[in-house]
Amino acid sequence: MSTGNEKIAIIGAGLGGAAAGALLQHAGFNVQIFEQAPSFSRLGAGIHMGPNVLKIFQRIGMDQKLIDISSTPAYWFSRDGLTGDYLSRIPLEGYGATYCTVHRGDLSALQMDTMTPGTVQFNKRLTRLEDNGSDVYLEFQDGTSARATIVIGADGINSRVRETLLGAEKPHYSGWVGHRAMISAEKLKKFDLTFEDCVKWWGPDRHMMVYYTTSRRDEYYYVTGVPHPAWEFDGAFVQSSREEMSEAFAGYHPVIQALIEATDDVTKWPLFNRNPLPLWSQGRMVLLGDACHPMKPHMAQGAAMAIEDAAMLARCLEETGSQDYATAFRLYEASRRDRATQVQTVSNANTFLQTQEDPSWVYGYDVYAEPILDKSVA
Ligand code: FAD
Repeated sequence: MSTGNEKIAIIGAGLGGAAAGALLQHAGFNVQIFEQAPSFSRLGAGIHMGPNVLKIFQRIGMDQKLIDISSTPAYWFSRDGLTGDYLSRIPLEGYGATYCTVHRGDLSALQMDTMTPGTVQFNKRLTRLEDNGSDVYLEFQDGTSARATIVIGADGINSRVRETLLGAEKPHYSGWVGHRAMISAEKLKKFDLTFEDCVKWWGPDRHMMVYYTTSRRDEYYYVTGVPHPAWEFDGAFVQSSREEMSEAFAGYHPVIQALIEATDDVTKWPLFNRNPLPLWSQGRMVLLGDACHPMKPHMAQGAAMAIEDAAMLARCLEETGSQDYATAFRLYEASRRDRATQVQTVSNANTFLQTQEDPSWVYGYDVYAEPILDKSVA
């Protein structure tokens, strides 16, 4: 339970940080989120939110709002990228909640609405933090500072909080990039082809995942995984082109050719990775999501793991109270490490749902039905 005196600082208002903010506020904790971006804009990218996440959104009254704006595919199809043959037809219903595909910007906007206004402070890039035993001192790039009882590092793969706990270390470039493009469904009407709700096209060494991002099905989105020898650019992404896409997917199925032809704007994102971390928390600081266990995105579960982390961490803090954060952090890691590592491993291998398999271990998972594990007692 909250003592009312604690101040929980979350660094980063990404999908994991925002979920932690809402869930901790819901449990009565005093929370402040510090986000480096000046604001969030509706950048062109989609995201899957599986039933494992929707069960968490139920807690903060967000599930139906998300379903209302999302596409809710009944199946995940895997198809041979060259012949179009079906490799698997995975039902997405029957796991205890709805499966959604949605625009990331729309998802983020919904998440912001789940928190008390003013919870997120934008333009606050954390540059330094110091746990001095009695609290944590936070310093931001704009010259301001803050103090917190505990700090949750939800600041993504290049986390400053992770760096403070474990030292500076660049993530590994995986050797793969993801191209991302949002296509107006209007542009697809001229093709005498079927554009399925959620389909992954598999080639021998590359793939293209495609789905709608709105309930109106007026935006169709693709994200690829393509080998790319070195990442020689600065920044999170660079511009790609229709020509580059045509080259990367030469000889692939007519649906893929149609998608490339209908592409106005496509970007290219390097896919980075880290090995499992030796620790998830130290003193008053704890990590979640990509700050803790980044992965290649091929299972579409990276953000889902960040949100599951947030839910388990909130549960553990509720169980122990914020004063006993050390126990809460230990229970949290014990309860989350195996699952996050398993998903990280399968996602990196890029095999999930390629053949007919049962995805219940991923989608059927309900973080609230899981026991809080205490490995030191077991
Ligand atoms: P992030 O989303 O990275 O958020 C971190 C936040 O912290 C950002 O807002 C950032 O601005 C802020 N920040 C960083 N440093 C600081 C600082 N020093 N001070 C203050 N703020 C800071 N996952 C899915 O579940 N489903 C999918 O379909 C899916 N598709 C993907 C496709 C691609 C191509 C990629 C690359 C990833 C995909 N993922 C998907 C993974 C998912 O995007 C990440 O796992 C997820 O965004 C992690 O959330 P997070 O909150 O931990 O970190």
